[in-house]
Amino acid sequence: TAVPLKRALISVSDKGGLIELGQALAARGVELLSTGGSAKALRDAGLTVKDVAEVTGFPEMMDGRVKTLHPKVHGGLLALRDNPDHAAAMDVHGIGGIDLLVVNLYPFEATVASGADEATCIENIDIGGPAMIRAGAKNQGFTCVVTDPEDYAALMAELDANDGATTLPFRQRQSAIAYGRTAAYDAAVATWMARFEETPRRVAAAGRLAQPMRYGENPHQAAALYVDGSNRPGVATATQHQGKDLSYNNINDTDAAVELVAEFTADPAVAIIKHANPCGVATGATLAEAYQRAFDCDRTSAFGGIVALNGTLDADTARLITGIFTEVVIAPAATDEAREIFAAKKNLRLLTTGTLPDPRQPRRMMKQVAGGWLAQDHDTGFVADADFRVVTKLAPTDAQLRDLRLAWTVAKHVKSNAIIYVKDGATVGIGAGQMSRVDSSRIAARKALDVAEVLGLPQSAAVGSVVASDAFFPFADGLLAAAEAGATAVIQPGGSMRDDEVIAAADDAGLAMVFTGMRHFRH
Ligand code: 5GP
Repeated sequence: TAVPLKRALISVSDKGGLIELGQALAARGVELLSTGGSAKALRDAGLTVKDVAEVTGFPEMMDGRVKTLHPKVHGGLLALRDNPDHAAAMDVHGIGGIDLLVVNLYPFEATVASGADEATCIENIDIGGPAMIRAGAKNQGFTCVVTDPEDYAALMAELDANDGATTLPFRQRQSAIAYGRTAAYDAAVATWMARFEETPRRVAAAGRLAQPMRYGENPHQAAALYVDGSNRPGVATATQHQGKDLSYNNINDTDAAVELVAEFTADPAVAIIKHANPCGVATGATLAEAYQRAFDCDRTSAFGGIVALNGTLDADTARLITGIFTEVVIAPAATDEAREIFAAKKNLRLLTTGTLPDPRQPRRMMKQVAGGWLAQDHDTGFVADADFRVVTKLAPTDAQLRDLRLAWTVAKHVKSNAIIYVKDGATVGIGAGQMSRVDSSRIAARKALDVAEVLGLPQSAAVGSVVASDAFFPFADGLLAAAEAGATAVIQPGGSMRDDEVIAAADDAGLAMVFTGMRHFRH
């Protein structure tokens, strides 16, 4: 099953490592075939290369749309060398076998991510490359395919270990990588082509393996991170400055943290996340103040948490964060001083994203179910202050309105049923993920009591607060529980059959209440 490597076809867009590869192959006496740009680069480095055009007898044409689409290429990639019919066809038609195919594709994903115009994106859909990759990868008994410069070193090690030949297990592994690449590539094209569809009816999963992990949500689950090529600022594309690799749960939580904090553009804001839910979110005059107030919302849960900031991490904030054990800190940037402070904490991971993601930028979400998956638009829903509808006799004050906005924003990022108490720009009680809205209310109120205890307040931190509910109150009881805890204003979608009853209860309790007309379930 070992196939001696005699003839290679190289056609790459990413020319990183190309010269070294060409030299190493030439040193082994391998004949090199190549396409326009790749051939030129190899020749400029002093290597002997045969143009594919010379092999096919056709020039590259139509702006490169047709370069390698020819039986002399595909026959060489697909021929079963031990099949007499195939061997005869090779003889008759003068087809030489291709033992190694090195191709990486036109950078379609990066072109789309750069915001290029439609014609440029279309021209960057590689046709001949995927055709060759699929052909060579099918013929794994004879052809070895390499689609990623990161695999050049493995190829060389394989040739070194096998006297200049590739073995079947290596080619099989490379074939799997190759089809993974063309599948992801076409999925990216399909997703982009479907971008004008209003409903996500035709979505394909596109992704490139970015980080294999030691394990998934639990130690017995294998896992990996994929990037989708969109270059959205966030956890998948962030730069990590220190600490060990992020785990599956770290990445999931860090994603929740960045997406939440990105909603805040006016004031410095900080979110602390545990198990994908915020345990504290606050704004402040400075990030340090915002961090302290987010931390005060639930100091116990913040231990081992993920912290996201909407501005540059500074020294003051960094010092505060190192006061307790924190798993990950993510921010658009960090000052040198802040990085020095973190450098002493070996287990703390610092990530920077450059900018914050745009929470209103449309994208698709996918969730797997057994036997299929669900696709939907990302929740980019936003209700402007002007569209908040006051339904009670009492209208919220401006200060209450600001807190209602904050509570509503946080509610969007808390697992349902979500109840959030906010006071003076900081959460003081978060009830998440309960099957009953009343239970979420109770938990949030209970948390506000804990805050009072920690801060030495004479009464619950919910006294004088506002409260948000991610979906309507189906009965007055949840609302009354919030009033009892001390809330003075309420924000919720409205739309219950018993809205009248709930509004009457709010009026009786002396609450101001606004309806958003939009709910934010998150499961
Ligand atoms: P080069 O820089 O060598 O001129 O071009 C290399 C690129 O061309 C590779 O990304 C390869 O996938 C792509 N390619 C090779 N053959 C064809 C073809 O027949 N049609 C198209 N559209 N692309 C090709």
